[in-house]
Amino acid sequence: MRRVFAILTLVVSSVCALAQSQVVQPDYDTYFHPYRLRVDLTFAGDASYQNIFLDGMARECDWSGSKVNLIDTFRYGEYRLEVHTPDGKEIYSRGFNTLFQEWRTTAEARTTPQAFASSYVIPYPKDKFLFKVFERSRETGLYGEIFSIEVDPSDKLISREVPNDFKVDKILYNGDPANKVDLLFIAEGYTAQEMDKFRADAQRFADYMFTMDPYTRHKGDFNIWILESVSEESGTDIPHKDIWKRTVVSSNFYTFRSDRYLTAQNHKLVSQVASNAPYDALYVLVNNKEYGGGGIYNFYGLSASDCIYAEPVFVHEFGHSFAGLGDEYYDSSTSYEDFYNIKIEPWEPNITTQVDFDSKWKDMMESGAEVGLYEGGGYMAKGIFRPVPDCRMKTNTAPGFCPVCQRAIERMIGYYTR
Ligand SMILES: [Zn+2]
Repeated sequence: MRRVFAILTLVVSSVCALAQSQVVQPDYDTYFHPYRLRVDLTFAGDASYQNIFLDGMARECDWSGSKVNLIDTFRYGEYRLEVHTPDGKEIYSRGFNTLFQEWRTTAEARTTPQAFASSYVIPYPKDKFLFKVFERSRETGLYGEIFSIEVDPSDKLISREVPNDFKVDKILYNGDPANKVDLLFIAEGYTAQEMDKFRADAQRFADYMFTMDPYTRHKGDFNIWILESVSEESGTDIPHKDIWKRTVVSSNFYTFRSDRYLTAQNHKLVSQVASNAPYDALYVLVNNKEYGGGGIYNFYGLSASDCIYAEPVFVHEFGHSFAGLGDEYYDSSTSYEDFYNIKIEPWEPNITTQVDFDSKWKDMMESGAEVGLYEGGGYMAKGIFRPVPDCRMKTNTAPGFCPVCQRAIERMIGYYTR
């Protein structure tokens, strides 16, 4: 019986693998201009409902993402955006998370509707297209469409305004952005006089990242860019200590009333600041000594420059924002309530409810890698399992990323470098 079961699961998982590799990627030049389009959206609602509203569009600098992998085959994220031709052909897609979605799981969201601004860049279509957003159902884990608009890319109201002239520079360059992971560090809370410090901080973070597997093996796959976005004042807002600073992307601690949760709530502002810079992944470097940070998949990573464990926090948050990794910890310090529905498999590659463990690291256990099933993860002590006792996605003192996280990061690097 065991043997039959094993053969059956093998068939199912290989069908899934086949489905992923069978995605026919569209030809970039047929459908897209060399530059990119930023679509600004407002997500509004509360714990029980949400709506999306169009907030504007802008033409930006050249597209720096892959020109081969245009359809997202990972299917990570609470949301997915898709670009379709008017006759229904999918020509671009990307999964993502938002700060709004995290907020919807807080107690406050049960009583107080709120709106969050956010922005998404896509290759600039040549012809009319449909822009769609899908939401993942908490009950089934499947995506359902919640927003669809038709866009004429020649519309004169698509902004061509250049929002700033901040200097874009590179601290590591290995070649054409189309075939590299382009990581952009955005200066936040650095005054004009502190730009040398920003460069040194970004360099220190990048150097640390490349001491860790799997990044060590893939240094040649990265370009690292820095955006010298100037703030009027140094530091960041710390509301629970009555500290407020005038800074370029308006970051703050005390997000969702959690002391150490440092974010920039206005994602549109972050995206506008980066209008002239190439990037696949945004990282906001906040000039501050207080411990904190956050990382949201295909949204941004963000953390303090000079706090204790500043570099480990950076690679942890970048693990969320770049590779879609979940948190492997489960203490009571977070504001979320029942973050995961344990009746379905979470999409994050490094945690499992065992509902569909075949889609996770079961193959690595069978091939003898030093991974297992350890209960506790994803902010929950029961029902969610992680691959190893300790990993960089669990603590800042772990020696590095576990084999499951390393494989997930490598797969993401591979996606951007084709
Ligand atoms: Zn891990």
